[in-house]
Amino acid sequence: MGIYLDYNATTPIHPEVLEAMVATYRENFGNAGSRTHVFGQKANQAVEDAREKIARLLGIDKREIIFTSGATESNNLALFGLAEWGAKVGKKHIISSSIEHNSVLEPLRVLSRRGFDVELVPASEDGRVDADDVIGRVRSDTLLVSVMHANNETGVIQPVREIGESLHGSDVYFHVDAAQTFGKLVDELRELKYDLLSISAHKVYGPQGIGALITRIRGFRRPPLEPITYGGGQEGGLRPGTLPVALIAGFGVAADLASKHHREWRDNCLAVKNHILSALAEVPHVINGTVEASLPNCLNVSFPGVDSEALMLVLRDKIAISNGSACTSAKYEPSHVLAAMGLPRQRIEQAVRISWGFSTGPVDLKPLIEAVRTLRR
Ligand code: PMP
Repeated sequence: MGIYLDYNATTPIHPEVLEAMVATYRENFGNAGSRTHVFGQKANQAVEDAREKIARLLGIDKREIIFTSGATESNNLALFGLAEWGAKVGKKHIISSSIEHNSVLEPLRVLSRRGFDVELVPASEDGRVDADDVIGRVRSDTLLVSVMHANNETGVIQPVREIGESLHGSDVYFHVDAAQTFGKLVDELRELKYDLLSISAHKVYGPQGIGALITRIRGFRRPPLEPITYGGGQEGGLRPGTLPVALIAGFGVAADLASKHHREWRDNCLAVKNHILSALAEVPHVINGTVEASLPNCLNVSFPGVDSEALMLVLRDKIAISNGSACTSAKYEPSHVLAAMGLPRQRIEQAVRISWGFSTGPVDLKPLIEAVRTLRR
């Protein structure tokens, strides 16, 4: 199977997370909504314990957490949930960026077809959206600004701190897709001023299929979200459905591990980043997106003269990497993120994403270097 260097797509599950999940499936199978017996109460306790751990990691109140199936659903709930209210009060202007994940861009396309005025701010060649460009577009009918924390393809960190500071106290809601930074940029997220935050467990050693939408309560008021699904009233009626207790317990353990170890994880990841950057010096390459303001665990790199699909094919059994299209589509489509940065098509077709985690250790990039040399010939 080779070395796994596709952590931005998903991470392996941490052994302590798995242990907690198996124990929950074995011993705590009740429905957290069952109030008539101890099985339900015990399951509910496990959910609340996990909620507490996630709240502690984010520095928020646990009542601000709505469990979802992952960041995709959280993004959909944030955008459609708020849009319903926006339509009622005549606020139909939304500002976002052209480098967002498809789980933001697709809902925005739908909202645009429903009569919302959606503006997508471009990114510069270094992969960053300009905070002033975002703020400068705010109008009296602006409902929402939605900008991601770090881009999943380039790892470039966006100026959400500046945007949050600027919008704070205004009546414009601020949503941040933090799928790639939750449990990683811990201090930054604790200080960030936002109304809605999308997070996911499976990018930080937790299980796939569980995430949350954080809805900050300001002045005793939550953002006026309307549900997008209806049913049993769980999660304050905003996300009905039986809670997946074992997934939530695993999410809680992953959050707890991140609370304890995030600094050491970041240092380990930075060491790998520096190691990869020096290994890459052996072949002609160009890094896509600024290295200075990017996640410690990922690099996006183009090798001139080397088609990324060919490179991944040669490396298939040795090193697992991806390109922008890999996690969203079975068919090849040039990355919309690199295109939005204005990179030439050829450079986009030569781009691969390398991403790793705290336990990756020193990586042997020889197979990659050799493959690049061979393909360049
Ligand atoms: N947003 C970003 C920035 C992501 O990287 C991802 C995962 N590729 C998602 C949203 C979707 O997350 P999930 O897999 O939890 O639905």
